[in-house]
Amino acid sequence: MAEKSYTGGCHCGQVRFDVSADLSKVLACNCSICTKRGTLWAFVSPDKFGLRSGEETLTDYQFGKRIIHHLFCPECGVGSFSRGVGPDGKPVIAINVRCLDGIDIASLKLTPFDGKNM
Ligand SMILES: [Zn+2]
Repeated sequence: MAEKSYTGGCHCGQVRFDVSADLSKVLACNCSICTKRGTLWAFVSPDKFGLRSGEETLTDYQFGKRIIHHLFCPECGVGSFSRGVGPDGKPVIAINVRCLDGIDIASLKLTPFDGKNM
């Protein structure tokens, strides 16, 4: 699977974005927050991501090492993407694949990620 363009956002529609992502590698993480939220992640560089609405409404949640900004919409509570830093120190956007429009989760190959032990 190659990189494709998607649109996505939160449930109520205040947060909307465009993204180019390769969904051949979607991570299912077992860390404390991903377990509770059920998030499935695709990572992209910031130039592949365009936030179209909701920047001013996004609420930040941080815990642990406080490296990742777990952003969510305060209206509907959905966290459609997060902002973080990759292993190379560069900014990275983590897309919640479940929030992409029209996505068929059952068709994706999920890659387990051991975030719990990082
Ligand atoms: Zn919302």
